[in-house]
Amino acid sequence: MKRYQHLYGPVPSRRLGRSLGIDLVPHKICTYDCIYCQIGKTTDKTLLRKEYVPVSKILEEVKAFLSEGKGLVDYLSLSGSGEPTLHSRIGEVIKGIKGITSVPVAVITNGSLLYEEEVRKDLLSADVVLPSMDAVSAEVFQKINRPIPGLSAAKTIEGLIEFRRTFSGQIWLEILFCKGVNDAPSELMKMKEALDRIKPDLIHLNTVVRPPSEKRTTPLTQEEMEAIRTLLGEKAFIISEFDRHMESVREQDLKEEILRILKRRPLSLTDLSRGMGIPQGELEQEIGFLVSEGKIRKRLFGDSVYYEAII
Ligand code: SF4
Repeated sequence: MKRYQHLYGPVPSRRLGRSLGIDLVPHKICTYDCIYCQIGKTTDKTLLRKEYVPVSKILEEVKAFLSEGKGLVDYLSLSGSGEPTLHSRIGEVIKGIKGITSVPVAVITNGSLLYEEEVRKDLLSADVVLPSMDAVSAEVFQKINRPIPGLSAAKTIEGLIEFRRTFSGQIWLEILFCKGVNDAPSELMKMKEALDRIKPDLIHLNTVVRPPSEKRTTPLTQEEMEAIRTLLGEKAFIISEFDRHMESVREQDLKEEILRILKRRPLSLTDLSRGMGIPQGELEQEIGFLVSEGKIRKRLFGDSVYYEAII
């Protein structure tokens, strides 16, 4: 069985179904250090674009994966352990993937570098781009995204508007709400105005559903989310829980696969079971081993138990 260094999953994605993750930057290199980040604190906050992982290596792994499990994924998603647009050759990665498969390519980005023309051009060959926009006003942006100096909400929004002008694929913009941080009525009105200018195809509304980087970060209630959805209009959707079963990875080394998935983000037993297509009962034993070996730990968030890798 082949092992992949830069691929993970397929993992259950609430927006992309069965999504094979492609990690373009090592953990955890990002332009932000969001308070809700589910993969932990940013250790290298940077604006430096470079070839963090060789393009040839990524394409080699994608090719190998597809030759083994063709048809098992809905999307190939560039995302992972940080901000993928920091990879200076992301454009070549996307074009390279398009050259070997018809599986659509998604880019999950915080959108912070879209103000740069080169970054916008790099993403033009993707099928769908899923940028974030959690704040419009400067102080809220600082509070929720904790960006590297030099970035601003205004720059991000201008970048998104410019990108919409040239990109013919889908833009599904995500806003993640944290209670008491970016949900004030005045901020919501500013978001609505910005969204009218950006014109995304869809607006995905999210809240803190997995253990966040900052423990004090809390989610909005269903009712609060519904009220925001109504305010933002017909393109806005509250992201629903993943409910699709995936192909099994039974033949793989289950323990290692669980560990690899949890290294990317904490998941509940239900998430893992759905994502891997393996009954919870079968996973429980392996999870128990991983906990006793000190490789993963339990974390209570809301009413649910999540498992996260100890990195
Ligand atoms: S949530 Fe995304 S943008 Fe924010 S710190 Fe984590 S990886 Fe970076």
